[in-house]
Amino acid sequence: MSEPQIIQADWTYLGGRFVEGVQVVVKADGRIAQMGAMDLRPTRVLKDRALLPGLINVHSHAFQRGMRGLGEQFPRELLDETAARGDFWSWRQAMYRLVLDMDERRMYELTRQAFEEMLACGITTVGEFHYLHHDARGESYALDDVVLQAARDAGIRLVLLYTHYRTGGIGLPLAGGQLRFHTPSPREYWKRVDEIAPKLDARTQSLGAVVHSIRAASIEDLVEIHRESQRRKLVFHMHVEEQPKEIEDCRAAYGRTPMSVVNERLAVDDRFTAVHCTHTAKVDMTAFLKSGGRVCLCPLTEANLGDGIADVRHILESGGRVCIGSDLNSRLCMAEELRLVEYAQRLRSQRRGCVADAEGNVARPLLDMATRHGAESLAIDAGAIEPGRLADFFTLDLTAPALRGWTPQTLPEAFIFGTSESAVSDVCVGGVWRRPAD
Ligand SMILES: [Zn+2]
Repeated sequence: MSEPQIIQADWTYLGGRFVEGVQVVVKADGRIAQMGAMDLRPTRVLKDRALLPGLINVHSHAFQRGMRGLGEQFPRELLDETAARGDFWSWRQAMYRLVLDMDERRMYELTRQAFEEMLACGITTVGEFHYLHHDARGESYALDDVVLQAARDAGIRLVLLYTHYRTGGIGLPLAGGQLRFHTPSPREYWKRVDEIAPKLDARTQSLGAVVHSIRAASIEDLVEIHRESQRRKLVFHMHVEEQPKEIEDCRAAYGRTPMSVVNERLAVDDRFTAVHCTHTAKVDMTAFLKSGGRVCLCPLTEANLGDGIADVRHILESGGRVCIGSDLNSRLCMAEELRLVEYAQRLRSQRRGCVADAEGNVARPLLDMATRHGAESLAIDAGAIEPGRLADFFTLDLTAPALRGWTPQTLPEAFIFGTSESAVSDVCVGGVWRRPAD
């Protein structure tokens, strides 16, 4: 790919609306050089297609693709009264059983499968929150390289969110499947990060820092790793307050909520993304957002696990920036994730238009979550079709039955509320067309 590509779709999503007759020039470096109505000779005509910026999946555990169809039966005769309903913690036990059987081959197959399914629904970047480091031998970190390889082979852009995981609960040792997650100290953690960095494909792969959760590390470790991530100018992600029990355990141990530990002990800035925040108190959330912190919602996962519903209206009204993750990958469809953001708030409040912007538009803020805000959370130059940004795109097939009746004005809403991955057609990552493959 040495000559520039000139891409011309029927419609192009620019500045929050679909515009007709736009050409997009992509240089050999995989970035957008210019765009507009230029009357150039196109090298790729995308007829009956609408071109959008690639979708950003900020939070994934790709190996959990192996859980699909599992953990969805609740045999009452085998479970006690409370657990018969199943909950996050019973699901976690099932996930740990999957982990115990994981070898490099299985890890590769599942990760690649998940990444392929992401591309198929228009996701061009994944933030892989990677904590399953070791194979059965325990200390080898054999599974780290597998993630890089699977992303390269699938052709998806990867931000490897490399995860520190040291305790099996606050103050508890790791046990069973958790031993596969082990990073023994912040020092060892950064040593591993430094070993991985040269293995990244500079064109499509980058790194972020993670402490798994308040359950998985001491406050000292959390402070140390976060401080070093800031010194290195890396994004920092962490699970926060997905479950009431995490808050109870944290209060019992430290006398405060996980989010207040974050607010009080870390110098939060806009590189910090808190994942879930399902049960975060308003006062803690307001302080977190004021520092520049971001929130990643994982709507399908939070529904699947019965976590609860975050107060998205409060987050947005406080100026919060929300992004989206597929987390456990029980289903991979960004349109479905986005409509559930709005629908869950409707069910919670018995009102409609819960995430609407000042102009009453719902689709635009939802698409922003899956594009601009996702890209910012992962510190990549994607998320919009603009000169200088990465040439990451997907297209909607305007002849798809689920879109029938669309107009340029209703297309964003029709996509989010009425379609699945079946309406997604072409996918491009860094100027390379992955669907259909170049
Ligand atoms: Zn997660």
